[in-house]
Amino acid sequence: MFTDYFLAKKRLYPQLAKGRFRRLKNYLNFIFLSIYSFSSLLRYNRGDSVTNQAIMIDIPNSKAYFFFIEIWPQEVYYLAAILIIMAVTLFFVTSLFGRIWCGYACFQTVWTDIFIAVERFFQGDRNQRIILDRKNNFNKFFRKFLTHLIWIIIGIFTGIVFCSYFSDSWQLWQNIFSLNVSITILGWVAGIGFMTYLMAGFAREHVCTYMCPYARFQSAMFDNNTLVVSYDAKRGEPRAKYHQGDSFDKRGHCIDCKQCVVVCPTGIDIRNGLQMECIACGLCIDACDEIMHKVGLPKGLIRYDTLNHLSDPWQFKKFKIWQFRTFYYLAILIIVSSLTLYSLATKSEVDLSVFQERNPLYVKLSDGSIRNAYYLKITNKTHQKKFFKLRINNSDLAMLKVANNEENLLEVNSESSFQYKFFVTLPAENLSDSEQKIIELEVDDGNEKKYLSLIFIGN
Ligand code: SF4
Ligand code: SF4
Repeated sequence: MFTDYFLAKKRLYPQLAKGRFRRLKNYLNFIFLSIYSFSSLLRYNRGDSVTNQAIMIDIPNSKAYFFFIEIWPQEVYYLAAILIIMAVTLFFVTSLFGRIWCGYACFQTVWTDIFIAVERFFQGDRNQRIILDRKNNFNKFFRKFLTHLIWIIIGIFTGIVFCSYFSDSWQLWQNIFSLNVSITILGWVAGIGFMTYLMAGFAREHVCTYMCPYARFQSAMFDNNTLVVSYDAKRGEPRAKYHQGDSFDKRGHCIDCKQCVVVCPTGIDIRNGLQMECIACGLCIDACDEIMHKVGLPKGLIRYDTLNHLSDPWQFKKFKIWQFRTFYYLAILIIVSSLTLYSLATKSEVDLSVFQERNPLYVKLSDGSIRNAYYLKITNKTHQKKFFKLRINNSDLAMLKVANNEENLLEVNSESSFQYKFFVTLPAENLSDSEQKIIELEVDDGNEKKYLSLIFIGN
């Protein structure tokens, strides 16, 4: 039934798993959170007239900075290229290793993990939390209060760090400690903080299951050679309860203890096969390995494996990195990354554009010569003021004059754009064989000469 999809699910109480994947998640959480929290504090010297924050999105000036890379509003295609590179990298990793992005690196997973750790710290592990929720006493409300207080503090911290990527981070922290923050910053901190509290504190696995679009289409990137968290049904079934001293002859190795289910942050039973809800975090592997160790059986009843290897371990390798899809994802990645890097490395620090005055298209002067007017827009992306000299390159007869400027020397401040009007005049006899002429304009900033073509209209 369609409505079944929206039925309220039971509240989950994930138990703490102990093992190598839990440790790996802890290390990665620490690394990712440190990167997120401290990257905005890094400095990069770009000169005196511009921010020295290494990573920053400067909304008032419509610019983005990433160390030596500066992206101007007219270069927004770089952001599109970066998004394509990130998407293809994600597809590439998913096709090989399944949903490990979700299990180890996604913001939702990392923050939910921290919120569950806080919950566990104040309210205990799974069984204690279940018992606590059944009661209504001071102890419960006090522990819940402390949990929510720390969640709110983490949410506010997340909001402040988020804002630090959009303004000077050191100044922002100073303003926060001196309680001197604008309403805009307060609004963003409150908004991001509230969303963090809501998503990591309450929505949790529902985000991965119902809200995240990636969960919906990631299976399109899977095939039988993708490494996924798998239960070895051939070895585990038929499952049966175990009592100390029981023999494992004529039965499977799964003792139906459900430890793999209670540690699962999305509350699924991996023994039912690969499911959309599985975020490949590997915690069920840790739980099952611990059980296997206790009953004296080899680890790996649940493991990262490919469907091919599970079905026929003798014929297929456990992991095969070089496949056709590896090459085409890599090829796209290398081509897009190389083009983007080349374009960034060779991008001009001065942008020029010229357009002609349309009304009137040309003016006939009293001596019979023809004059056209143009507008030259110069964008100086460097951090120094620049001067530009204009000259006509392909005609000795054409006269160039910049409006209100005797020397035809144009000045443009650092990191700014300026538009100048200029005139080109040609003797009428020079246009006798044609109504239009191509004039080449030379723009020289002292280091580099650039050329623009002008269409001269007359007669
Ligand atoms: S089934 Fe295992 S790997 Fe998948 S989400 Fe649950 S604990 Fe993580
Ligand atoms: S943890 Fe292992 S043994 Fe226990 S139910 Fe899950 S698969 Fe079976």
